[in-house]
Amino acid sequence: MAVRTLITGALVVTMDAADRVIEGGAVLVEGGKIERVGPVSDFAQLDQVRLETVNASGHILMPGLVNGHTHMGDSLFRGLVEDLPLEPWLERLWVSERQFLSYDTVRLGADLAIAEMIRGGITSALDMFWFPEAAADAAISAGFRLSTGPIMFDFEGPDGVAAEERPAHGELWLERYSGEPLIHPAVQPHQVLTVAPERIRLARQLANRHGAVFHAHCAETEAEVAGSVARFGRTPLAHLHHLGALDGAAALAHLVHLTDQDFGLLAESGAGALHNPLSNLKLGSGIAEVPRMLDRGIPVAIGTDGAVSSNDLDMWTAIRVAGLLQRGVHQDPLLTPARQTIRMATAGAADAIGLGEVTGRLTAGHRADLVLIDLDRVHLTPAFDPWPLLAYTVGRADVTDVMIEGTWVMRGRKLLTVDPAAAVAGARELGHRIAAHNAAHVAAHSGGADGRSES
Ligand SMILES: [Zn+2]
Repeated sequence: MAVRTLITGALVVTMDAADRVIEGGAVLVEGGKIERVGPVSDFAQLDQVRLETVNASGHILMPGLVNGHTHMGDSLFRGLVEDLPLEPWLERLWVSERQFLSYDTVRLGADLAIAEMIRGGITSALDMFWFPEAAADAAISAGFRLSTGPIMFDFEGPDGVAAEERPAHGELWLERYSGEPLIHPAVQPHQVLTVAPERIRLARQLANRHGAVFHAHCAETEAEVAGSVARFGRTPLAHLHHLGALDGAAALAHLVHLTDQDFGLLAESGAGALHNPLSNLKLGSGIAEVPRMLDRGIPVAIGTDGAVSSNDLDMWTAIRVAGLLQRGVHQDPLLTPARQTIRMATAGAADAIGLGEVTGRLTAGHRADLVLIDLDRVHLTPAFDPWPLLAYTVGRADVTDVMIEGTWVMRGRKLLTVDPAAAVAGARELGHRIAAHNAAHVAAHSGGADGRSES
């Protein structure tokens, strides 16, 4: 069995500190990590013993995409609740979640999400959902890199854990998954209006004790900001800062509605910003000021959010929209250059979720999380410059091969570690029951067809 893999002849997009692109480049992988990157000629003297050589000419070889924010289990509910403002939309979704979520169904949703993500060139994600052990087990089984961990939520959830028991419950979770090479711990209070201040403090302490990233939603809607100001006298971001929640690795999703003071606190804290343009557009939440974040040196990750709020886990679409949105809004074609946008889905994304030393770059010492993109396509010809191709043209079907932690998880578009047919069959069967329950709920509560009266 080969113990080393040499991928050779590709257009290598390294995402290293100089954003080096190597035409006719090669990457040597050994023991799950990247051993060496350079022009093919550098590898001429390489010992051929137990070496797998992959000819990748005609392909872009780049780091796997990092999905900065998602809820994998929500893949089970894709398209179920539509056309409502965030708060009533969440209420409706939670009715179905409470009814149907268990370890087994979350595992099913995670299998579905991981299969979708690998096929789209994503090699790692930051995931927040009920039963995070189901997500972690699915990731370990699929060989997928996942940041996840205990969630904090003050109301009764489908897992039956009381709010006051969550910190201790979380402690056990973090102990159980410590040492798993593909699982990176996160402690995840939902947001400031659904988690009491004392439990946000406990979440921070828990994260610090276990070297975990603190991951929460923050300033997603105007309503959330108004609610936080009314209840705590502070914006959500200032409230988190005040509680000490940003004293350590932190990653905050959305950050659409920030004050000048918030920007200052955010930049000073070093927390990562998780930008989910498709979700923010679809839910009518607003548009995050990404150029301002980048100008302040705030690490930004692009994310898909869950499949209920952006309806797929397609990072290429999220990349394209993230790159174009700011230009249209500000009427400035110089904003978010293609290279900067790709950085927000690779190296910059890894930085934003606390994995900058682990993934997101093809440099010696980083874990071998990489993808191949076939350039022999009508829509990718001619290929003058990889940056605009990657930012505006490449799509999921162009990703042919995916390696995570040095192991191929997709070759020639065939998934090797997760069975998509089984996930599809399971989700389809469960989907029938979810649809029937949702229809009955809407009929019982709305008095009308659209369910809006409950909000
Ligand atoms: Zn979210």
